[in-house]
Amino acid sequence: LTNKKFHPEPSVVKVGNTQIGGSTLTIMAGPCAVETEEQLLSIAHAVKAAGANIVRGGAYKPRTSPYSFQGLEEEGLRYMQKAKEETGLATICEVTSLDAINSAVKYIDMIQIGARNMQNFYLLKEAGKAGLPVLLKRGLAATIDEWLNAAEYIIAEGNPNVVLCERGIRTFETATRNTLDISCVPVLKEKTHLPVIVDPSHATGVRAYVKPLAKAAIAAGADGLMIEVHNDPAKALSDGPQSLTFEQFNLLAEEIRPFAKLS
Ligand code: PEP
Ligand code: MN
Repeated sequence: LTNKKFHPEPSVVKVGNTQIGGSTLTIMAGPCAVETEEQLLSIAHAVKAAGANIVRGGAYKPRTSPYSFQGLEEEGLRYMQKAKEETGLATICEVTSLDAINSAVKYIDMIQIGARNMQNFYLLKEAGKAGLPVLLKRGLAATIDEWLNAAEYIIAEGNPNVVLCERGIRTFETATRNTLDISCVPVLKEKTHLPVIVDPSHATGVRAYVKPLAKAAIAAGADGLMIEVHNDPAKALSDGPQSLTFEQFNLLAEEIRPFAKLS
């Protein structure tokens, strides 16, 4: 179902009032975690003004440490809905359980399966039944074929609206949090009709590397970007070091505009 041989035309996935794939470049941007209503709304307005089409924000955070901030859960989803109402932008949020999926369908436009759950086959099947488009992140140590098989699980449940997101993989390199596998973009373009998004924020973990790799992703043929943006990165409850300030995000959007049709 993911194979281009049986579906030669590139898929275009509808998300709220926008779409991913085809000739437009999608920019998903927002905080790692929804922290407060004010925080999310200020970020949503800022990324919209810069040209983003989808606002992201985590309400269920799969943190490495159980003592780190775990997310606002349903309350966070309500703030995401408010962000959509105020800005008109489509919304995406990660889900980590069936409970989270059941809440997400009430409030947001797209669900995200995170890297750590890429081979949670139960969750993939439930995501396939949820009726919302799904952004499937690549597992920390997943091959491209394993990733496509995970997408297959979702589509096999009757949901063809799957978008892939490269977010860096584990290698021996320690200068960056993960290693952005930019080569997966042309490989995926050859193998599958599904749209491909690149997330240079989680791939590097370092704010300064986000812009150059965002440009590399567009040059490689990605259909869009996922970028973490925060109103005050130094105080962010998660992923502050990789989050762009409003000013840095504006600059990124400005510099990629000549290469991309931003809506
Ligand atoms: C995220 O997008 O907030 C996230 C946790 O990403 P990943 O699953 O790629 O680590
Ligand atoms: Mn994050």
